[in-house]
Amino acid sequence: MLEKEKVMSETRLKYVIDDSICSGHGRCYVLAPQSFTADEIGYGQVIEKTYSLQQRQEMENLVVSCPEGAISIETVEVV
Ligand code: SF4
Repeated sequence: MLEKEKVMSETRLKYVIDDSICSGHGRCYVLAPQSFTADEIGYGQVIEKTYSLQQRQEMENLVVSCPEGAISIETVEVV
């Protein structure tokens, strides 16, 4: 591959909710409505967006606020 054909990518973070664990308390979308929303019966849904590595601590604070431990953080490569 020629140098100018290399595609630059960036490691970003995203939230994931395990739907099999979520109990619909609503804490995630109350605390972080910019990152989560509710489905039609109140279960948490991730708003599709990514975050910088520098935001990880802030994200982890939200992760531990879920009473069911249903929220996790995954890394994604964004081109
Ligand atoms: S706080 Fe946790 S259990 Fe409650 S709606 Fe959000 S993901 Fe589901």
